[in-house]
Amino acid sequence: MEMPPAPLILEGIPMPALLIASDGRIATLNSAARASMGEDLLGRLYLMAFRQPAMADCIEAALRNNVAAVTRYIRQKGTGEQIFRVTVTPVPSGAMCAFEDISEQEQVGQLRRDFVANVSHELRTPLTALMGFIETLQGAARNDAAARDRFLAVMGREAGRMNRLVGDLLSLSRVEAQERVRPTQMINISQLLARVLCDLRPVQEAARVVVELTSEPDVMVRADTDQMAQVLTNLIENAVKYGGSDKLVRVVLHQIPRDQALRSPAVRIDVIDQGEGIDAVHLPRLTERFYRVDSHRSREKGGTGLGLAIVKHIINRHRGRLMIASEKGVGSTFSISLPMGEVTSA
Ligand code: ADP
Repeated sequence: MEMPPAPLILEGIPMPALLIASDGRIATLNSAARASMGEDLLGRLYLMAFRQPAMADCIEAALRNNVAAVTRYIRQKGTGEQIFRVTVTPVPSGAMCAFEDISEQEQVGQLRRDFVANVSHELRTPLTALMGFIETLQGAARNDAAARDRFLAVMGREAGRMNRLVGDLLSLSRVEAQERVRPTQMINISQLLARVLCDLRPVQEAARVVVELTSEPDVMVRADTDQMAQVLTNLIENAVKYGGSDKLVRVVLHQIPRDQALRSPAVRIDVIDQGEGIDAVHLPRLTERFYRVDSHRSREKGGTGLGLAIVKHIINRHRGRLMIASEKGVGSTFSISLPMGEVTSA
């Protein structure tokens, strides 16, 4: 049986692949390779085309010694980089290189490593404080009743911080696990909002913030009660925390006939504060885990840095959207839109 020519075989490989002839020149590229690496590779010497020692060594080993190998190849792409796992295989009269793009896997790995590092750091800070106070209470302050009370109060706060962090981490992992499952219950979101505001009254009073609610009655929406309560609590608590004392926070719930982005009727809830506002550079990153504009201020207010990440995941699960608008010196508006009814076309 006659073999099809090499270029045709390369076309059957579902990733960028190319052939290097025994003279060291790139002899054939499949269309995936042409699209991602450029036409101009054709005819070039591999040493000039891939100027990375590991890659050059593997190709040389394939060409000279008939040895197959796998290596990494990193390519600049725009402002970022693209990472490939390259399989180099000796073939008659040359070497074949197949490029598997592993940039996304590498990025996921990096995100996981960063997350673990962040969690450890966030837990270690209160833990170090607790250990320090325990040592002091066992030693120098053993018989000092006034100091003991003071230290115990601080220890209570630090333990509370750890507790909130662990609670938020558990919420986040629960929401992530359910993200693909749409809620099935119909709930009265107007009532839920009123209840959340009632539960938050002590927080409002402690911060001397007045929350004014404008809401259409008995709006029904497909949602998970506990998760929506958490979204509303996080957004309103943030507005109270960062809105500033003696300022007003407005919460507005209304139905809109059509949300352009959701392509359906929707219920929209706006949480509007009169705080300092957030610089535009921070807005796209606010929903990242542990991203804070001012870490000191967030920690001072008992924040975990996970509130908005949880909000984003819950809203995604509900196929809704979260919008953040802010103007320095004027205030911020955090809005959520939840679809009501089925998606309509166009
Ligand atoms: P945190 O626990 O720190 O409040 P969040 O995830 O809820 O964490 O919010 C992330 C960051 O977004 C906060 O640290 C704060 O810098 C900023 N932020 C959130 N809500 C507001 C708001 N209403 N006004 C100003 N900044 C806000």
